[in-house]
Amino acid sequence: MTEPRYKRILLKLSGEVLMGEGGLAIDPTVTARVAEEIADVKAQGYELCVVVGGGNIFRGISGAARGMERATADYMGMLATVMNALAVQNALEEIGVDTRVQSAIPMQSVCEPFIRRRAMRHLEKGRVVIFAAGVGSPFFTTDSGAALRAAEMKCDALFKGTSVDGVYDADPKKVQGAKRYDTVTFSRVLSDDLKVMDASAVALCRDNNIPIVVFNIREHGNFAAVLAGTGVSTIVQN
Ligand code: UDP
Repeated sequence: MTEPRYKRILLKLSGEVLMGEGGLAIDPTVTARVAEEIADVKAQGYELCVVVGGGNIFRGISGAARGMERATADYMGMLATVMNALAVQNALEEIGVDTRVQSAIPMQSVCEPFIRRRAMRHLEKGRVVIFAAGVGSPFFTTDSGAALRAAEMKCDALFKGTSVDGVYDADPKKVQGAKRYDTVTFSRVLSDDLKVMDASAVALCRDNNIPIVVFNIREHGNFAAVLAGTGVSTIVQN
């Protein structure tokens, strides 16, 4: 058997992947489905870090657009990511996956603070580590948090689980015949402003040579399939 390409991976989940049809910000059924995809991959022996976004609940930029101070609105967004992290933790533990949540904003009654060496130890013990609150500072996003944690935790790749199956040369919802890339370089993503992750996250991955794998996590079995090299995705690399 050939060695798997990646052993330790970081999964970035946008908050919106936890949303259901009924408009619930955190839909328990949808969240349980996402947890099953993670559990499947965990059972195959991968080491897994997870970063969750908060856009299903609150985005700083939307609050700022309505007159809030941007930094305050961003802190609210970070708190939203903690709620999502707890929801994902709950769904994973329901199906027997051992987890820890670590927040970049210390919240000791709720979860652990981010301590890199402790997070490493959790991974070694087979736990899924869920990182909340992005980088812990306003004016960033959880994409940047994901890229930073992937570098710090020495992850082999950053998997971005979304509701589309990869990166396209144009918006597939608007442009008929838009083409999905199998692979694309970091520099093309930045120069063509392709919608993968925000530019600072892409640059951090480029500088640390961490490939970004964009895939649809809502499609059952796709996360495991992409890891096995048979699923549909786009790999962003140097
Ligand atoms: N946020 C922040 N700093 C961070 C991470 C997140 O200020 O390091 C705030 C920001 O307002 C952001 C919100 O938290 O809009 C939710 O995160 P994000 O938009 O990245 O979530 P996603 O789009 O992945 O659901």
